[in-house]
Amino acid sequence: MKRHVLLALGALLLGLSPAAAAINVVTTTEDLAALTREVGGEKVKVEALARGYQDPHFVEAKPSLVSKLISADLLIAVGRELEIGWLDPLVRQSRNAKIQPGASGYLDASLNVKILEIPTGQVTRAMGDVHPQGNPHYWLDPDNGRKVAASVRDKLKAMSAAEAAYFDARFDDFDKRLGEAQKRWDAAMAPYKGLKVVTYHRSWANFCDRFGLDVIGYVEPRPGIPPSPRHTIDLIAEMKRQNVKILIVEPYFDLKTPQSIGRETGAKVLVLLPSVGGEKEITDYIKLFDYDVNLLVSAIKETGAR
Ligand SMILES: [Zn+2]
Repeated sequence: MKRHVLLALGALLLGLSPAAAAINVVTTTEDLAALTREVGGEKVKVEALARGYQDPHFVEAKPSLVSKLISADLLIAVGRELEIGWLDPLVRQSRNAKIQPGASGYLDASLNVKILEIPTGQVTRAMGDVHPQGNPHYWLDPDNGRKVAASVRDKLKAMSAAEAAYFDARFDDFDKRLGEAQKRWDAAMAPYKGLKVVTYHRSWANFCDRFGLDVIGYVEPRPGIPPSPRHTIDLIAEMKRQNVKILIVEPYFDLKTPQSIGRETGAKVLVLLPSVGGEKEITDYIKLFDYDVNLLVSAIKETGAR
């Protein structure tokens, strides 16, 4: 009797062989998690460390995040020093050899994408600039999202060759749906090429590059540096001079300064979402752009900015 139970148990364990188990993926942001789910489907288990409504530069390195990393097979990071303030200590504390930088279970998603604003001179973090390796908010261009998904596909295929055809098919399907969505977004934004906007942080460089918006200034004097009275006065003057009617703010910044700029200039303060999970209903990458493009187009129409 006991022997039969053991045999049955053994067969059950064999059924759960490592090849059949889902790849345990941890991503730093919800955007990377969403792109990984598109490609990985049911063959991956994905968790993000940062929430989509948090500033991805400044995430609290809590012990609960370390525990997510302990059992990860693959860690996917935005890179370009976006997570430099919090990720490295978490990865070290996990003592998980598979996901240390340089190991095969560590994927820097920035390696094959278009990076804007790469500094030409000497830039150090001592100056307070949190973008010393170029603009790390590159996922806000759908073409870059597609490239990240392709990198994830290639990595998953390398980790699980038996599932290569599955990951290829998932990527192709996402690529097709994204392409269709891009036609929709491009058409919605086409009338507003060259429209001048101001943004709080430099989160929107790739987004504005993609849709032809002209960012003429920032509420932050430098990326990561809070607004100063002097800078705000200069910005208001410049917005009046250039008749800027749209001020884009990320959801994690205090609205006090943007609202006072809005009152002085007549610009509409618009909270757009830089990440999946910024609002509960934004559960995937295509929904993120649907949300932002719709909100932006209605705001432009409302202000008569064009
Ligand atoms: Zn930034």
